Amino acid sequence: MTRPLVSRRGRLALLLVAFWITVAFLASHGDVRQIFLQRWLRVRAHEPKAGESQVTNPEPDIQQTTLTGTLTHNMTPAVLQATDRVNATFVTLARNQDVWDLARTVKQIEDRLNSRMHYDWVFLNDKPFDSTFKRVMTSLVSGEAKFGSIPSEEWSFPPHIDLERAARTRQRMKDQGVIYGDSVSYRHMCRYQSGFFFRHPLMMQYEWYWRVEPGVEFMCDIREDPFRVMADKGKKCGFVISLREYPTTIPSLWEKTRKFIKEHPEHVVKENMIDFISDDHGVSYNNCHFWSNFEIGSLSFFRSKAYIDYFNHLDNTGGFFYERWGDAPIHSIAAALMLKKSEIHFFNDIGYYHVPFTHCPTGNKLKTDLRCYCSEKKNFDWKGYSCTEKFFDLTGLEKPEGYELESN
Ligand code: GDP
Ligand code: MN
Repeated sequence: MTRPLVSRRGRLALLLVAFWITVAFLASHGDVRQIFLQRWLRVRAHEPKAGESQVTNPEPDIQQTTLTGTLTHNMTPAVLQATDRVNATFVTLARNQDVWDLARTVKQIEDRLNSRMHYDWVFLNDKPFDSTFKRVMTSLVSGEAKFGSIPSEEWSFPPHIDLERAARTRQRMKDQGVIYGDSVSYRHMCRYQSGFFFRHPLMMQYEWYWRVEPGVEFMCDIREDPFRVMADKGKKCGFVISLREYPTTIPSLWEKTRKFIKEHPEHVVKENMIDFISDDHGVSYNNCHFWSNFEIGSLSFFRSKAYIDYFNHLDNTGGFFYERWGDAPIHSIAAALMLKKSEIHFFNDIGYYHVPFTHCPTGNKLKTDLRCYCSEKKNFDWKGYSCTEKFFDLTGLEKPEGYELESN
């Protein structure tokens, strides 16, 4: 009879030694231990049980919510973030005097979502933030609050601008009663949001952003991490409200865009959504855009050659100053031309208000589940001035039950 190389007792001893070495290693490496535990728990929380199919549950996953709650309590948040979060940040452009309006908004996001996720928040300003602003925001944000200054060349007239022509435009728009028509700072703001926020040094480490403005409200719980929704579904641009731009602010934007398309046909993707922004397949712009005071999106999209070429082309024409181009139509036109239709996402679940419009999730069950405090009467989605119905029709999305009742 041949004897095994190691006896049964020997194998048992070896197994015991290996076990104790693993225990000792995990005990002395807290970070590895927590990642190990976290992964294990996450996998279990998501794993379908035998016989269950893996469908996305629109209802909050109670088991997961409970688990996350327990983990948040027992584990260092850094480890939880590292495994649960995507590489994202909130970003807000603000002035020091916006501090209290913004404080209310930040607190709502924290209560509805971020106190669980601890995403960072980047605050940007053309002037230095004062100590009150920094103190209040640091105390409210559960991730890291970062404060950045905007380089003056990104918030001033570029050298090629004819200042007198720009001043004439402002006077004319003032006389015509165009909103912000005579404002210089508003134009710098729109140009900054169009061409620079995504490449500010504080933003460079992130892949996803969520733009938030002072004074906006979030009226429902945010149960799913919207960044993860974007990442998992292959989305690049997310919105809640769409509407039509005042044509007087962008008289030549479409003509300049058409010139760009002619010069750079390679930047227009095949599966684009031109019919969202044009009712005659590109001859004219229908003024539809995603309202940019709320944006969840991919920073790489804005950093892409296609987008940067588009921004530079527009910037060279001087239209930010000779007219009053907003960042919303620019972002939206770029998204409609340079992204696939399937990469644009409508967040029905996120209740949102920015004066004067509300996005209140359609469906009473959903509103109750998400503890919303908005009224369906206020929901802008299905009103005549919104472009959201067009978005649904073009993308083949099924309209939520009861949408017709909210149309006026
Ligand atoms: P509206 O939504 O188009 O009416 O424009 P807002 O006044 O809300 O401005 C849009 C965003 O830019 C907000 O986040 C403002 O806080 C910010 N913003 C506007 N003007 C300035 C400015 O002069 N300086 C700074 N730092 N932020 C500004
Ligand atoms: Mn605003």
